[in-house]
Amino acid sequence: MSVSTGDSVFDWIDTRAEARAKAGLTRRLRPRPATSTDLDLASNDYLGLARDKRVTGAAAAAAMRWGAGSTGSRLVTGSTELHTELEYELANFCGAQSALVFSSGFAANLGALTALSGPGTAIVADQYIHASLIDGCRLSKADVVVAGHTDVPQVKNALATRGKRRALVVTDSVFSVDGDLAPLTELAAVCREHDSALVVDDAHGLGVLGDGGRGAVHAAGLAKSPDVVTTITLSKSLGAQGGAVLGPSRVIRHLVETARSFIFDTGLAPGSVAAALTALKVLREEPDRPGRALAAAVELSERLRAAGFRASTPTAAVVSVQAPSPESAFAWAEACRTSGVVVGCFRPPSVPDGISRLRLTARADLSEADIDRAVRVITETGASAGAVSRPR
Ligand code: PMP
Repeated sequence: MSVSTGDSVFDWIDTRAEARAKAGLTRRLRPRPATSTDLDLASNDYLGLARDKRVTGAAAAAAMRWGAGSTGSRLVTGSTELHTELEYELANFCGAQSALVFSSGFAANLGALTALSGPGTAIVADQYIHASLIDGCRLSKADVVVAGHTDVPQVKNALATRGKRRALVVTDSVFSVDGDLAPLTELAAVCREHDSALVVDDAHGLGVLGDGGRGAVHAAGLAKSPDVVTTITLSKSLGAQGGAVLGPSRVIRHLVETARSFIFDTGLAPGSVAAALTALKVLREEPDRPGRALAAAVELSERLRAAGFRASTPTAAVVSVQAPSPESAFAWAEACRTSGVVVGCFRPPSVPDGISRLRLTARADLSEADIDRAVRVITETGASAGAVSRPR
């Protein structure tokens, strides 16, 4: 008998890669140079704080003072005084009772959902929740009911028919593909009526929506609700890295004791903690930034729709523009990049409804000239990608 060389063990990977390539769905890493004249409409740096000197300076100083890494899990050596300060400031800014910092928004979502539900509990989730929430639902082993997108009656029905089980309703505040909003007030009312908790991922709401950028949960008057838990990321509006869960103090204490993505993960690096703290301070001092990001999104969308494209109506900083096919979306995004405008490209399976899109993110620091350039390039390249829905 001949002994296997092991060479064929991963052949199935090539087969899958070929199938993806055939469908035009190959993903590629594109290392970004440190400096570029390209116009960025793809990052989540909504407030333009990732390269703000105050923010980067604080990150560098914290790395020098506390170390490049946090050195351990939060319950061992990975909690610095900076972490405690950030948790206090986040809770205070967003109007929540308490906060707990995780190493990413992804980890915050996994931690919140697995710690607050489990086998024998029910989760009712919007069909378009972020992948990290989906994975949290799966990991929790709860019974998951997927409700139609922003369909409050379906949520209500699922809660009403769940029997005696504990329940969590799970939603994004701003959905990441199209930038549309969840009906938070209605969902909170249904949860209250049916004795259920509401978990809201405010990753795209923080820094853009609500008074001074305090987020969608704050804007809906739910930040201090005893039955609402909010998750956020520090990596979008705050321009840093990391995530957090905000909510009632007893929920936060419970996460410290039981959330595995908190307990068994190295604490967030001090530089990222300091960057987020400083970004929060800038946001407090410059409360017009969220409005500027939103205004830029509205202008981009209106001008693209006027040019005949199917652009979403932005309620936050995200604008999506529909493309006729995955291939044309890819070609369109590539053509934009070649012309110096970097846009996101969402294709199946990242988009659950199968509609491929360009995803544009507006920023508070976009100038009028930037918007003119973006509209010109997207329009010129879109015509050749066949994305105009009506003749101009
Ligand atoms: N939730 C939403 C809605 C997101 O868009 C993202 C980031 N893409 C995350 C959670 C994960 O956050 P992080 O990047 O900090 O892990």
